Amino acid sequence: MSDASVPTGAGAPRARLMGVPGPDGRFGEFGGRFVPESLVPACVELSSAFDEAWGDPSFHEELDGLLTTYAGRPTPVTECRRLSEQLGVRVLMKREDLAHTGSHKINNVLGQALLARRMGKQRLVAETGAGQHGVASATAAALLGLRCVVYMGEVDVARQELNVFRMRLLGAEVRPVSSGSRTLKDAVNEALRDWVATVETTHYCIGSVMGPHPYPYMVRELQRVVGDEAREQCREVLGGADPDVVVACIGGGSNAAGTFAGFVDTRSALVGVEAAGGAALGSGVPGVVHGMRSMFLQDEDGQILEAHSISAGLDYPGIGPEHAQLAAVGRATYHSVGDDEVLDAFRTLAATEGIIPALEPAHAVAWLLRAARTGEVPPGSTVLLTMSGRGDKDVAQVMEMQS
Ligand SMILES: *Cc1c(COP(=O)(O)O)cnc(C)c1O
Repeated sequence: MSDASVPTGAGAPRARLMGVPGPDGRFGEFGGRFVPESLVPACVELSSAFDEAWGDPSFHEELDGLLTTYAGRPTPVTECRRLSEQLGVRVLMKREDLAHTGSHKINNVLGQALLARRMGKQRLVAETGAGQHGVASATAAALLGLRCVVYMGEVDVARQELNVFRMRLLGAEVRPVSSGSRTLKDAVNEALRDWVATVETTHYCIGSVMGPHPYPYMVRELQRVVGDEAREQCREVLGGADPDVVVACIGGGSNAAGTFAGFVDTRSALVGVEAAGGAALGSGVPGVVHGMRSMFLQDEDGQILEAHSISAGLDYPGIGPEHAQLAAVGRATYHSVGDDEVLDAFRTLAATEGIIPALEPAHAVAWLLRAARTGEVPPGSTVLLTMSGRGDKDVAQVMEMQS
């Protein structure tokens, strides 16, 4: 428990990083539950329902069954031989791009949909920006026979018409949001408003390690399957050793949190990669938004700024509170990469490994290309990179940018 323990003062109990948070849902000075009075009972109910389910072997049996027979788990770890040769570091890739619906998001939504059903709720609401979490939520709702309403900013509805069509095919109702900047943060507000009014029948399915307690904790636990599998798979490949570096991209931070959870008590360096235009840990300041205390891009008056990225999935102007804690205590480091580097990484990975990445994990690849070149990751190191999703959704965009 050396580098994974947080000293909390002389004689104080040492809180384990990425363990079970207290009832207040704090991760150090971050996290918490900052919601209107009317939502407190719903959060408390959800919290105890999750704790109870997570301690119940029959819940795990059902979830693991779906993850295996429906979502295609376990996903493999691929040794990237040609990229390794090119970089002089040994690159292993955790292949969430091979999961059903094309990303790690299915792990979270299957868990939350099962939990909703267990709580007797027949309706899911979700927010979505690029549409990926909306599609995943609609998928899980279809599978389990739940109704599904997805809130999406009008701007995003126009930008992501294919995903809107997918959600409707899957039986979900897509509600365009016309308030504010008509993007993701406004969709979150509308989804919260819906939940306040319908909490008896409705579960709010949040798409990342964000929002009021228990969401950041619950979503991390539902994604820890990525890190737990990867740790075993890496040990098999590396003769019992853990990788020197574990790297994942960060939007809200769920694929990274799930990955890190499997390695937080090892000696592996943990690295999160944000988009330069959405680097909440690079350029953000502490604030309370969307039910949690975390780091956000804000102007001088505390107004939330728009994040900008080539990748719509990394467009959230904040970051999950547990990442803010991991950064504060120095257990993980966070870096950002620019759009040009991301495009270069997108092409490089496709041409060297035959894997077309989603633009989100192309950020992690971009950091690795840079870090291997500068020696920040020394030659001969072993690196696990979480390939959070596949690039099919992004090829048209990249093609257009080329012309
Ligand atoms: C949504 C998404 C992300 C960003 O979300 P996190 O919660 O940070 O994981 C990253 N990669 C892919 C492929 C996504 O669809």
